[in-house]
Amino acid sequence: MARIVMKFGGTSMAGTERIRTVARLVAREAAAGNEVAVVVSAMAGETDRLVNFCREANPRYDPAEYDVVVAAGEQITSGLLALTLQAMGVPARSWLGWQLPIQTEEAHSRARIHKIETDALRASMAAGHVAVIPGFQGLMEDGRVATLGRGGSDTSAVAVAAAIGADRCDIYTDVDGVYTTDPRIVSRARKLDYVTYEEMLELASVGAKVLQTRSVGLAMKSGVRVQVLSSFVEGDGAPKKGTMIISDKEIEEMKMERQLITGIAHDKNEAKIIVTRVPDRPGAVATIFTPLADAGINVDMIIQNVGRDKGETDVTFTVPQADLLRSIDLLEANKDKIGFNRIISDEKVAKVSVVGVGMKSHAGVASTMFSALAERAINIQAISTSEIKVSVLIDSDETELAVRILHTAYGLDAE
Ligand code: ADP
Ligand code: ASP
Ligand code: MG
Repeated sequence: MARIVMKFGGTSMAGTERIRTVARLVAREAAAGNEVAVVVSAMAGETDRLVNFCREANPRYDPAEYDVVVAAGEQITSGLLALTLQAMGVPARSWLGWQLPIQTEEAHSRARIHKIETDALRASMAAGHVAVIPGFQGLMEDGRVATLGRGGSDTSAVAVAAAIGADRCDIYTDVDGVYTTDPRIVSRARKLDYVTYEEMLELASVGAKVLQTRSVGLAMKSGVRVQVLSSFVEGDGAPKKGTMIISDKEIEEMKMERQLITGIAHDKNEAKIIVTRVPDRPGAVATIFTPLADAGINVDMIIQNVGRDKGETDVTFTVPQADLLRSIDLLEANKDKIGFNRIISDEKVAKVSVVGVGMKSHAGVASTMFSALAERAINIQAISTSEIKVSVLIDSDETELAVRILHTAYGLDAE
């Protein structure tokens, strides 16, 4: 007998028929004698719909009330799954974020989980009840509802798994594992049997939304065993083996051949800002980025262009699209202090990244990328690198093409 967490994403929960399939998968695990906690997402498209309502009600919405609205999607699916399980004769109950509670930090719309109370949950599970927990939501110290950032149900699942000491955390989604790139863009993407925490963390952070970045970081830190697999099974059939996220050490022990590049990801959620004619002197860049950092805005790629004649320079960087307006407001408010000429912004950009631990010991990864893009006349607007990643910023219209040609250039295409 094992204690397991099963997480089901939006497509898996989209409608009563899909929820019945999910309930059958849960019932299988319970019938095998396992203690089961299920973490669910809102139905596909529901969170977007709720976010839009917030925007319509108030374009500069209060994040505390935004959380009240968007947390609702998961409340509905958790109740519906508990009802469906009960209808199949499987004892089940829902545990909302505030009921456990799932305690979070004070940061509406992007809170981190601090602690999960599990005494009542464990007792209920031990008595044979399936626990159904809405993902994405928690409770702040001040008693208000918090949400964990888009895609946050993955993090809820891993956090629950860590808190109850689960033997496994299975993340069920609409693809049967982690691929070398988004299989919806490149039909020749290959499914990976294993991927390391480190590689998955980097892939997720540059846009492979199959797992939320924080969930991977948390799994790595707390040693939770994560598998990504598909909830789309035939009838009462068992799910197919998915992708296991494992440690570097385990990969070495299995003596598996390592690829230079693990995968390619893209992200269309960034926006580019150019601050023109900034004084080219020490401290100038700090006056730009300090107000953004103080407002909790995550700046990603940064380039400072070659200085112009009169001791001036242009500074280019990217921020999340959702923070673009706020960033521009902050820069304009600090215009005198920074001393720039004007701000140019562009949302029609995409970041494409290649990721692989093999890069640590191999030269030439970046130049392969630049040459492959150059051959197709794709212009690079910014570059950033880490030990195991190279990212470029390009026109968003060219995203799919860029991902495809890079997938081929690094020899990742399936036969
Ligand atoms: P869920 O609602 O189950 O959380 P998501 O839509 O958040 O599902 O994540 C699954 C999607 O992630 C897939 O449908 C796929 O299009 C996308 N995806 C992006 N990159 C990858 C990748 N490298 N491997 C697998 N899926 C990926
Ligand atoms: N429903 C939330 C979202 O769409 C959380 C999740 O699905 O993981 O972002
Ligand atoms: Mg997701």
